[in-house]
Amino acid sequence: MKSPLLNIKDLPEFSKIKAQHIEPALDELLAQGRALTQQLLEENTQYSWDNLVFPLELFDNELERMWSPVSHLNSVLNSTELRDAYTACLPKLSEYSTEMGQNKALFLALQQIQDNQDNLNLDAAQQKSLQDSLKGFRLSGVDLPDKKKQRFAEISKELSTLTSKFSDNVLDASNAWTKQISDLDQLAGLPESAIEQARQAAIQRDLPDWLITLDFPSYHAVVTYADSRELRKEVYRAYSTRASDQGDKPELDNSDNMGKILQLRQEKAALLGYKSYADLSLDTKMAESPEQVLEFMNELAEKSLPFAKKEIQELREFAKNELGIEELQAWDIAYASEKLKQQRYAISDEDLKPYFPVDSVLSGLFKLVENLYNITIQENKNVDVWHKDVRFYEIYDENRQLKARFYLDLYARQHKRGGAWMADFCSRFKMRDKLQTPVAFMTCNSAPPAGDKPALFTHDEVITLFHEFGHGLHHMMTQVDYLDISGISGVEWDAVELPSQFMENWCWQREALDMFARHYATGEKLPDELFNKMQAARHFQSAMGMVRQLEFSIFDMRIHQNPAITTAEQIQQVLNQTRDEVAVVKAPDFNRFQHGFSHIFAGGYAAGYYSYKWAEVLSSDAFARFEEEGLFNSQVGKDFLNEILEVGGSRTAMESFKAFRGREPKVDALLRHSGLAIEKV
Ligand SMILES: [Zn+2]
Repeated sequence: MKSPLLNIKDLPEFSKIKAQHIEPALDELLAQGRALTQQLLEENTQYSWDNLVFPLELFDNELERMWSPVSHLNSVLNSTELRDAYTACLPKLSEYSTEMGQNKALFLALQQIQDNQDNLNLDAAQQKSLQDSLKGFRLSGVDLPDKKKQRFAEISKELSTLTSKFSDNVLDASNAWTKQISDLDQLAGLPESAIEQARQAAIQRDLPDWLITLDFPSYHAVVTYADSRELRKEVYRAYSTRASDQGDKPELDNSDNMGKILQLRQEKAALLGYKSYADLSLDTKMAESPEQVLEFMNELAEKSLPFAKKEIQELREFAKNELGIEELQAWDIAYASEKLKQQRYAISDEDLKPYFPVDSVLSGLFKLVENLYNITIQENKNVDVWHKDVRFYEIYDENRQLKARFYLDLYARQHKRGGAWMADFCSRFKMRDKLQTPVAFMTCNSAPPAGDKPALFTHDEVITLFHEFGHGLHHMMTQVDYLDISGISGVEWDAVELPSQFMENWCWQREALDMFARHYATGEKLPDELFNKMQAARHFQSAMGMVRQLEFSIFDMRIHQNPAITTAEQIQQVLNQTRDEVAVVKAPDFNRFQHGFSHIFAGGYAAGYYSYKWAEVLSSDAFARFEEEGLFNSQVGKDFLNEILEVGGSRTAMESFKAFRGREPKVDALLRHSGLAIEKV
């Protein structure tokens, strides 16, 4: 019987994919991959792009076409059977990739091609692709002497245990704390939806009345809305001491794990010949060195601190005069801020929603990018999708040639993971006899249509859709022919958010809003009064938000830059020092934020948290060229398409940025877009 996951001709037939197809298909492919690699290495002694790299790319492409629909279904149409099959495959995939990354013969063969690249007539993109893969091999320790290689493997294994222990502790500590509420008055101030959530939390645990937990929505609702200062303090304390020496579960304390993780990361960096883990982390990123990143963040801090101090002073006065809070504490910040925002701007999500009905938003978004990039987007209803709400579109260039296609799955529903993201089914890839055009999965989680009204988006949801569409365009507009560097592949971690954050800017422009903001019942454009309120509220406390991000980023870089920092006490000292320099909200002594900072201790952001701000500088500065030369200036649109969206990882992000902007990035536009430009003081 033919498996719907193998040899997929064009698009996956989602209606035919069943959980039982998954493991056998993966097993078959991985066996093929192993055999192929060995065969290619044995068949030749003189290696070339055509006899080694290209056949391996062909295989990787098949693997992607098999696995991406599975991992996508696991996210958007989850079931027990599917999850079991998916989970059973994960170790097989990771084992395969470790095996390939440590394959010395393969590494040497690729190196031979690189040494010989001029004779082989490799173009610049091929050279970049080869350079990236060789670096990947080196960072997996492939060319270390045996003894060091063994130590490297031990470190990697231990790190993976410790980092997963770190996040388990955070999760377990969050789950271990709850607070029962029997008197509804204690929840005064909370919106109806949050009270309902607290009720559901109690029901799930067979408890009466209401239950506060440390899940983010529950925590967030209490510190933002609860009138009871005592309750806010209690919940804040529980949340900010999770998995620490200040919590009530010593067995979940992350103190030792943090120190050990730092120590092992530094040892790993040293084995690979780097000064520090921060230097190792930055070696594959756009930023050049830890010093450069710190300088960049200090510049942002210097420029935003005066604004942040003004914002916190205003908040203190407001809290004192209007809320009777004599001394503003960490657990009052979100609460007082929400009240101040309401008093000052009197604008809510509900006021804007009628102007963002789904079909207007989509057609406006499409019209915008059609104008900018000279493309046409067209719906195709005859495609096998996984759910009736999923739409499918085709993108054509100016000569009516098919350029790319995408699935769009907009609404929240059961068994679909939360959040919004872009993933790909396949990438642009030139084969011998045909060109594979890219296909993207675009996923959001907006509220589905209710009654006879169309689905209405909040402004935030519109921004999210534009953001993901920016990632989608990066994947789909590429003109690169090689698999590893086409679209988003091969783009540095700290530059990936450029095209997505770039798209967000349009959601604040009158000319762009007029293309898609239309009242669902009257067809009326967004009234000036609402537009002005929305603009005014845009920069509310943006400097406080900025310095908070800088605090995290600087702290992260500093602890990874100094190999001598290996204990929880030292980590605390660095955090305290960073806070003295850039924080405007004083953290209480019991605060142990760092013990739950999974991004850097358990996720991929170690010595990389700055990436968020870094990419925002790039996207703001890129958008500023549109502002300077005309939002719909066709030359600027064409340049953005040619120099940023089309080139993927075929060259460095800095080269691409400079080609578009004519110079290196500057922070000015980000400061202006955040309302932090000097002239506004
Ligand atoms: Zn993103």
